Order: sequence, then C-alpha cells, then structure tokens
Amino acid sequence: MTTQTETRKFEAEVQELLGLMIHSLYTEKDIFLRELISNASDACDKLRIEALTNDGLLGSDEELVIRLEVDKEAGTLSVIDNGIGMSRDELAENLGTIARSGTRAFLEQLKQAKGEAAAELIGQFGVGFYSSFMVADEVVVTSRRAGSDGGSRWASKADGTYTLEAFDVAERGTRVTLHLKPRAEDADPQTDPDFTEAWTLRSVVKRHSDFVEHPVQMEVEAQEPELDDEGKPKEDGATKTVVRMETLNSRKPLWSRDPSEIEAEEYNEFYRHIAHDFTEPGKVVHVRAEVPVEFSALLYVPKAKAMMMMEEPDSKSRLMLYVKRVLIMPDCADLLPPWLRFVRGVVDCPDLPLNVSRQTLQANPITRRIQKHLVSKVLGALREMLADEREDFEGFFEAHGRVLKEGIYQGADDEQRLSKLCLFPSSTQEGLTTLGDYVERMPEDQDAIWYLVGQDPATAASSPHLEAFRAKGREVLLMGDPVDEWMLQRLNEFDGKPLKAVDRGEVDLEGEEAKEAREAQEAEHKDLLQAMRAVLQDDIEEVRFSSRLKDSAAVLVGSEGGVSPAMERVMREMQGMDMPKTKRILELNPEHPIVAKLESFHGDEARKGALEDYTRLLYGQALIVEGSPVPDPAAFAGLVTRLMVGSED
Ligand code: ADP
Repeated sequence: MTTQTETRKFEAEVQELLGLMIHSLYTEKDIFLRELISNASDACDKLRIEALTNDGLLGSDEELVIRLEVDKEAGTLSVIDNGIGMSRDELAENLGTIARSGTRAFLEQLKQAKGEAAAELIGQFGVGFYSSFMVADEVVVTSRRAGSDGGSRWASKADGTYTLEAFDVAERGTRVTLHLKPRAEDADPQTDPDFTEAWTLRSVVKRHSDFVEHPVQMEVEAQEPELDDEGKPKEDGATKTVVRMETLNSRKPLWSRDPSEIEAEEYNEFYRHIAHDFTEPGKVVHVRAEVPVEFSALLYVPKAKAMMMMEEPDSKSRLMLYVKRVLIMPDCADLLPPWLRFVRGVVDCPDLPLNVSRQTLQANPITRRIQKHLVSKVLGALREMLADEREDFEGFFEAHGRVLKEGIYQGADDEQRLSKLCLFPSSTQEGLTTLGDYVERMPEDQDAIWYLVGQDPATAASSPHLEAFRAKGREVLLMGDPVDEWMLQRLNEFDGKPLKAVDRGEVDLEGEEAKEAREAQEAEHKDLLQAMRAVLQDDIEEVRFSSRLKDSAAVLVGSEGGVSPAMERVMREMQGMDMPKTKRILELNPEHPIVAKLESFHGDEARKGALEDYTRLLYGQALIVEGSPVPDPAAFAGLVTRLMVGSED
C-alpha cells in the first residue's frame, strides 16, 4: 500500500462531467446535499448489511447517523456518516471514475443540451458525489473502512486531478468536507443560498431528504433562558446560547408504515404538507405492493379544488418519486396518466435506480407496471367515493371532472371505467346523474341516451329542443362544458346504448300518425318552406317542419354526427377562418300560428319583403336561443325595430 501523497488524474469523463457541472447555469444547487446524504445513508445501509454476517463490525458505535457540520469561519460544510467507509483504493475507484451505468449516456445528453436544458438535466439526473462541485471549489473526503484501522484522505479542486494520502481517521465512516465557494454578502438567498446557515440546511434536508431512514443531525445554537438558583427563568429575562443536536429529517415515511397503524389525522397532515391544501383529502389511497414490483404509494384524491392547486399548464400528472426514501423527482409525470393529474402523492420504489432520469423512467417497464396498478387503485377509490360519499364526490367532480372527461376523449375509457364516473345535470332529475342511473331509468321503448350540449347546462335546460322530450317525459342529459363535446367525439355508447344529441339528425318521438300528419302539412306548405330556404340559402341547408317543438316557433338542427355550433366556433377559431361552415336545418313548429302568417305573406307578392324579414327573424331567434351570435347583429336589431313600429308591410 502506498503511504505517501499521490496525485492522480480523473478519468476523462469525470473531468468532463465536473466541467459541465461547474459551468452549468443550474440554479437548484441544493441537490448536492440530497446526493451526499443519500450516499451517507447508503453507506449506513451497507454497514448494517455487512454487520449481519460480521459481528464485530458495528462495535460500540451502533447507532447509524448522518451529521452535518458547519464551520462558518472556514466556510466549510461537512457531511459525516458512521457507515461502511472507504479504503484508499475504494476512494480512488469510487471518486475518480464513473462507475455508474447510465452516467456516460447522461453525459452525452448533457453535452448536447445547452443552457437551461442542461440545468434541467442535471436536476433530473442527480449527479451524485460530483455535484458537490456546484457549490464547492475544493472537496476533501476522509474515510475509514469499517473493520480496518487506517484511514485515507481524498481531495480535489476539480482541476483534473485529485490527491490521495494516508490519514489518521479516528472513527469508522466517511466525512465529506466542502470548501464552499465564496458568496457575496448581499447574495440572494433564493438563488445563491448560504449552506453554512442552519435554516438553509434545515429546509434543504426537509425538502429533499426528509424520509431518509437514518437521522440527519446538526448542532444548532439556540437561546435558552438563564435559570436562577431555584431552576426558574431569571426575572431579568437573561438568556444564554446553548448548542443542541437537532435531527433535521422526520424519517418516518408514512407510506412505508402499516396502514392499520396510521391515524386519519396523520394522513391528512401529510396531505396538507404535500398538496398545500388545507381541506381534508377526499380519498386516501395507500398501496404497498410486492409483486410484480415492490413499491409503496400514498396518493390523495382531493375533495374539491384546493386554493393552491393550480392546473398544471402542461396537463401532466405530478407525483413525488422516491427511491428508498430519497426524493428523486418532485414532479414525476410517468406514474399516472394525465387524466388523473388531480391526484397528489408519493411513490417509493426501491427497484428503480437512484439515478433514474425522466427519459429512462419512461422506458422502464417498472414504471408502466406501477402506473397500471395505481390507475386501478385510484379509479377504485373514485368508484367508492361516488357510491358512498356522494357529496364529496360531487365536489371533486365539479373541480376535476373535466380531467376525467379528457381521459375519455384520449381513449382511456376501457370498460367505461371513466364514463361511469361522470356526472351530468338532467332535464328530469334534481342535481346530477350518472350515465348508469340514466340507463336504469330508461323506459323500455327508449333506445338511446339523449343529450344536449348548450353554451352551459342552464342554456341547454331552456332549449326548444327539449320541448317534445319534455312532453313525452323523456330524460335528456344537459351538457355545457366545451370538454363535453370533445368527450362525446369518443363516447358514442354507454352500456350498449348509443348516445344521441337531441339537436342533431332525426328524433323519433312522435307516433306514426303524427308523422304522417306532419308530412302532409309539409307537402301542403312546400312552396313556403322553399321560399324561406331561398332567403337563408347562405346559412341553411333546408327549412322543414319539426317533430321537436311544442311551444317555440323555430329551432336549428344539425346533422347526425355533427358537432354543436359552439364547438364548431371553437374549431373554427383553432383552425383559422377557412374551415367551411356546416349548414344546418331550420325547423318550424307546424302547429305554431306563425306558419299561417308566413303563408299569408307568401301568397301576396306585395309582402315578399315581410316574408324575408320574418324568415330572418326566426333564424336569428333560433340562434339566440341556443346561445349562438347572430351573424349581423345591427341588421337584426334593425329588423326588430322595424317590426316594433309596425312597418312589416
Ligand atoms: P452513486 O452514489 O450514484 O453510486 P456517487 O458518485 O455519489 O454515485 O458515489 C460513487 C460511489 O462512492 C458510491 O457508489 C459509493 O460506493 C461511494 N461513496 C460515496 N459516498 C460514500 C460514503 N459516504 N460512504 C461510503 N461510500 C461512499
């Protein structure tokens, strides 16, 4: 064994990695601490495992701990553990080369990425020990392997080389000392935190390493009241500075505990902590799976829209991903599909590598398995909530139902698992109904689930389209959310029953006799209907008599399988102005007195103008009633005014 100091060169890749790290613009420098604590924790685990077969290894120093030590004057921060330690050769091997599989590939990516993208990559990847050089200009590691008596010292300034020498280390384990880069007095603690400040370290540990199994401790100074001879605080309120050992991490991941031993309040507290939602969660989903993948998860379905819960701009799900209690990704998008993005929570999977990146995670079969498992658990919880806690479910659905409907649109409604959970207002029911309940209420001779998409459910509820359905006691689901229309592109059927829009195509509510009567009336007024069609030919495909109306004079009908006018407007806006306008049908109520009036104009050449005005008025009204704008509001207003002053002749 060499005893004198030797200087060695880093492996080329290491130097490259260091260079990238030092010069990257990465702002979240504090992840270095997560990496060092995680290494220290692994070292403790390794010792514990070796000690199982090697009795003497632990000695009297049984409690495995990680300590942070600050020397403000020297500007150093040390991370110390009494774990397995490293021999001189291990120091050279572990801290001079890149052993980790995946790191080389990462490096390639890092080289190609620039600026912020590189920064993002570093954050995602977790770059292990070498990330120390983001905050330190020199790092010194002294270590003593458990069971050996000598120690070694490794030191580097990231200048292409490191030194190795024998060093007297009193106790087993490793001390990593960072000589922190100088920091301007007035530096912004947000972007350039002071890692010699207790509160900085406390918050970084809380954020990234709260659930590390071994205690992370630090000596902190505190003010305590001075006591008098009787042991009571002195009257003058004098205090003295004392030094206390504080454990910074809570160490108790709820998710790894037995659910039967967890109080509801503990679950709620954790929800508040991670979701920043001060209401109680709607449902807690606590999963501890062993096969085929070992993982635990603690997920929450919110009861309503939390104040702080903002819709993610990129519509991705976000769960916290831990690997062996170390936070790897605070916002992992791959563990749940986007249409469950309202779920908050944590997944801990010891089978994933600590250095897993977003890219490798996506491709990892473990992720897919976990996702599948979690999806079925969350949907199960939602079904339970719908069945047993209807009020909570309605609150949840009001806030997040659109996200589920998006899932239907995206094709995730296998076995109607999402459509079963959707709630809709109905034309015959108080409150909201499910598709399942609608189908149960359907009379035998009804073969379709009827719905109407309006500007909003209230507009839909007052639509003339419902008149004949009301008269016949037929229930219509009232939809009014733009996402409903998207959803309906996919949701054509529920429980074997087709979904049909009441304002499109034919509706078959009248009996044979009524139908024949209507057709006879239509034949009788054929010329009138054609004349009206000629007036509206730019907008309207056909003018015909309706079987839909009871009180109103006119209504607009789309083609079967077409979209609602509101949707058409949205699509036109999205796709530019060129999208062709689909012409709809203007249906008149054959029983309405207006028909006779129109016919009287039609028969009188001198009142041709009045027929035109009335036709346009009927069309305009039909548009207004459904919530659509009239094409030329000024002309429409002019028409109405003329009618008001009685100049229709
Ligand atoms: P990773 O931890 O992902 O393997 P690192 O670069 O952080 O990558 O560390 C490289 C190796 O150095 C570790 O795998 C471990 O063997 C060793 N090591 C790092 N820190 C410690 C420590 N505190 N005690 C013992 N071994 C350590």
